[in-house]
Amino acid sequence: STPIERKPDWLKIKLTTGENYKELKNMMRDKTLHTVCEEAKCPNIHECWANRTATFMILGDICTRACRFCAVTSGLPTELDLQEPERVAEASEQMGLQHVVVTSVARDDLADGGASIFAATVLAIRQRMPFCSVEVLIPDFMGSESSLRTVLDAKPDILNHNVETVERLSDKVRSKAKYRRSLELLARSKQIAPGIPTKSSIMLGVGEEWSEIIQTMDDLRQVDCNIMTIGQYLQPTTKHLTVKKYYTPEQFAQLKAEGMKRGFSHVESGPLVRSSYHAHEQVKSSQRA
Ligand code: SF4
Ligand code: SF4
Repeated sequence: STPIERKPDWLKIKLTTGENYKELKNMMRDKTLHTVCEEAKCPNIHECWANRTATFMILGDICTRACRFCAVTSGLPTELDLQEPERVAEASEQMGLQHVVVTSVARDDLADGGASIFAATVLAIRQRMPFCSVEVLIPDFMGSESSLRTVLDAKPDILNHNVETVERLSDKVRSKAKYRRSLELLARSKQIAPGIPTKSSIMLGVGEEWSEIIQTMDDLRQVDCNIMTIGQYLQPTTKHLTVKKYYTPEQFAQLKAEGMKRGFSHVESGPLVRSSYHAHEQVKSSQRA
């Protein structure tokens, strides 16, 4: 099928660059930290940073996998930075964050997939900022239960792991990750730490059917996933997967209603929604739930 060339109006956003924003960007450079907000050129960066939410990408910026939708460089990572957790905590404090999302590239080259650095980062943030909520958005650790336990032992406020797309398209869209393994991770998280809300995300527009989106919701609820986010896939470069369809804001609203009907405590659904968008509100809603 032919790709759709023109972006609909609701995806055109205006980027502003305030002083505060520049200052924060410089601090990230000084501390050699990576944020998904910057690297994925996330359209929500001003809103999120102003709302004291940011997503740090730990464990370097080279991924051992190569998903067809993702702009992160793939290759063989070089080092493991043991001071990184402390620098993330320092930066979070300087930014006055109220909600920190910690995610990483897939580090299949490490024995624990980077789980211990995730845990150290959660603990470092907790120590400096006891009232800041921490969400981890983890890779699948190749299905390792002990790696998952390591992360959960640090008691993050939200355990997030993305299925990214519907089951049928999983192998085509993601690299190495498996739809069923991702569901199993979410199920296992609930067995190990029932009190920690789980969360997952899909992006739309890579060729899925409406009924498959609904099925994904049912699959996530089946493993008692609490929070779901749904956003529009945008092609980062011409080498990446083409966009098959742009969903309208009305369709996103309809999907939110479908999700809420199915018992999620929170569904964030909209063209510009990314996994960590409005994440701070989700902490509140899942604690109420
Ligand atoms: Fe950063 Fe996530 Fe907000 Fe985008 S939605 S700016 S990645 S915190
Ligand atoms: Fe991107 Fe994550 Fe896939 Fe790596 S595993 S290519 S960081 S989506």
